Amino acid sequence: MTETVGVHPLAGFDKLLHYKVPESLRAQLQVGSLVRIPIVNRFHLGIVAEFSAPKDFPVERCKPLAGLVYPFPALPPDLLRLSHWMSAYYAAGLDAIIEAMLPVAVRKAAALKKEKLLAPAVPPGLPGAPTDDEIAVLTKRAPAQAKVFAFLVSQPRPVAKSLVLDRLNVTAAAINGLINRGWVREQTRRVERIAYDDAHSVGEHVAAQPHKLNSEQQAAVDVLTPLLSTAEPKFGVQLLFGVTGSGKTEVYLRAIQTALAAGGGVAFLVPEVALTPQTVARLRSRLEAIAPGHRCVVWHSHLSEGERLDGWLALATGEARVVVGARSAVFAPVQNLRLIVVDEEHEPAYKQDEVPRYHGRDTAIMRAKMAGAVCLLGSATPSLETWANASSGKYGLLTLTQRIDDRKLPFIDIVDMRVECMQQRGPATLSKRLVEGMRARMARGEQTILFINRRGYSSAMQCRKCGHVEECPHCSVSMTYHRADEMLRCHMCGHQSNAPARCPACAAPDIKWRGTGTQRVEEAVRRVMPNARLERIDSDTMAKKHRFREILGDFRAGKIDILVGTQMIAKGLDFPNVTLVGLVDADLSMHVPDFRANERTFQLLVQVAGRSGRGDRAGEVVVQTFTPEAGAIQFSRHADFTGFAETELKVRREFGYPPARHLLHHLFRGPNPEKLQFFAEQWKNRVAAALGDKVTLAGPAAAPIEKIKDEYRWQLWYFCNAPVTGIVAEIGKLRADFAWPEDMVQVLDVDPVNLC
Ligand code: ADP
Ligand code: ZN
Repeated sequence: MTETVGVHPLAGFDKLLHYKVPESLRAQLQVGSLVRIPIVNRFHLGIVAEFSAPKDFPVERCKPLAGLVYPFPALPPDLLRLSHWMSAYYAAGLDAIIEAMLPVAVRKAAALKKEKLLAPAVPPGLPGAPTDDEIAVLTKRAPAQAKVFAFLVSQPRPVAKSLVLDRLNVTAAAINGLINRGWVREQTRRVERIAYDDAHSVGEHVAAQPHKLNSEQQAAVDVLTPLLSTAEPKFGVQLLFGVTGSGKTEVYLRAIQTALAAGGGVAFLVPEVALTPQTVARLRSRLEAIAPGHRCVVWHSHLSEGERLDGWLALATGEARVVVGARSAVFAPVQNLRLIVVDEEHEPAYKQDEVPRYHGRDTAIMRAKMAGAVCLLGSATPSLETWANASSGKYGLLTLTQRIDDRKLPFIDIVDMRVECMQQRGPATLSKRLVEGMRARMARGEQTILFINRRGYSSAMQCRKCGHVEECPHCSVSMTYHRADEMLRCHMCGHQSNAPARCPACAAPDIKWRGTGTQRVEEAVRRVMPNARLERIDSDTMAKKHRFREILGDFRAGKIDILVGTQMIAKGLDFPNVTLVGLVDADLSMHVPDFRANERTFQLLVQVAGRSGRGDRAGEVVVQTFTPEAGAIQFSRHADFTGFAETELKVRREFGYPPARHLLHHLFRGPNPEKLQFFAEQWKNRVAAALGDKVTLAGPAAAPIEKIKDEYRWQLWYFCNAPVTGIVAEIGKLRADFAWPEDMVQVLDVDPVNLC
């Protein structure tokens, strides 16, 4: 072993520095250890990357490490390898990746918070415990000590010293007196702040006992069990493709149980923080029932620093072996990782939209690869990327076609809003069909949910008469309307035309910018049903965690008739009394300038339908649209994912969109539009000259939102065949050599997910 190590400093730059290892640290130091290092005349933290000697200067000049923060590696080998892959794949600095992997409190090297616990040295009644006489004497001589002792004896378990001091209003001397007397024992234990202890309050009825598997679930479990219990863990990806309500969770739980029994660790990823309490509640109670002594660590971005640190420590030390959380839980230091579950793998929320711009699902697959674990992806509507991999045999495919207890999928009623607007003689928000449905539900004491698509994008043009939407002839995405110069532009290729005054398809004059917000729907419902108990959930309510839970609690308790909200509430929640679901404006997700618009619409429709009729009553879904003939709507009517996927994949291949090729997005921002365009074009020419045979470029074009806060935005697209890493590296080199003007900011996004 060399006497020096290469360390990645956590100091805001990306460089490997070398240090001598002092004798005292030699035994404990490992690759992945978090260490204190001197840089110039300050101390920083760093991660040991390798045992090696510096190449460009003599070992004697290395300074010694100043200390080791934890006796275990802060980044186990699989995470360290993952950080290198991410840095190359997502074109991000290693320091930014390592920063994302370590909780803030760890990066600050916060000391373990320790607490002193007090308990009687010998439990009362056992030989050696103080006698009644001895206690009577103490009560006379030292009443404070007697008070403390009586309190500790009355408690079922050890009590924090701070609590004793606080509660009994005594001094530390009284406690020390008892300790010196040998009556009380003091022990030090790390304090855990367990997040989401109130998880059960969400109201989900949790089945603690395992269900008896149906034959499809059993078949899936039979494939997973040997993969998770082999002596030699092996990497593999399995897709659990199961219709809504088919019991995917039960399959996940069995897989987790098997992985734990084999001595492994588990990471369970969910897309939305808001849903974590419910998932955690289910997981917890089931794990406690099937694997006593196992604790779930909760992991998501809304935890306090302390909560995060506790969970991180529990996992890093191997004390806890299961983590459940949102995207960043993929970085939790689970030891001996054997299984990563990615629930609702198709969700765009898995993509992080700031540096490092990683995709949680893809990163989970790579982590599983580095750790030799199984990655289990689950969805009722898999992403087409995943579906293509499952179809080609790269991933295993496990299918659940039946809903539990053969519950029927709800009837989907498509309402043509063109007809509705004609009948109502003007713009209609709610169709007659939907209003009648809501009234009938209210009369029967049943509930309704109305969904509005959050990704509403008001710059598409849609004819209210015939439903026509202008698309780019080259790119198969909606054109974007730019108000400033009355133009329609394609933000993929830059194609442009004058915004028409009349509909190009039917010549109707009524071609409008559209968009229905949750508030407008709420008003419309109040107008027609003034007595309905109505609540609205949107991003404002979501921000207040307690308000959100309160509304869901009230809804579950039957105190609300109609819930209006974005598709946030379409996910995962299970309300047995909801028998009608309305999708107020299906077109909002379909006509956005994003080649995944159809896929998102299909996912939304299936998800929304899955929310209706989960109890024993049949459900109904009303979908309002100006384009009822669209494929995404017709296929979803029969919950025909395979049919949809086949048709959509054909379009993707034709235009070369993912998964046919990889897509990279390059955004340029700056105060001067002409300069921005000029340099974007220069850069494009440079890339085309250097990489023209490997990359197809589209643009540069104005971004769909051309200007934000006085900054103009242009963008360029790269279509490339795998492997992407090499191309990203070449682009990176060109980018470093290019003379960018100072006031121009540019951002590269690999495998972008939200294109508008
Ligand atoms: P999915 O995630 O596929 O939409 P869930 O896992 O939420 O479906 O399961 C739907 C419902 O069926 C849940 O209430 C679950 O407890 C129940 N369930 C799952 N498996 C079984 C089973 N084998 N027998 C009875 N009920 C089951
Ligand atoms: Zn185009």
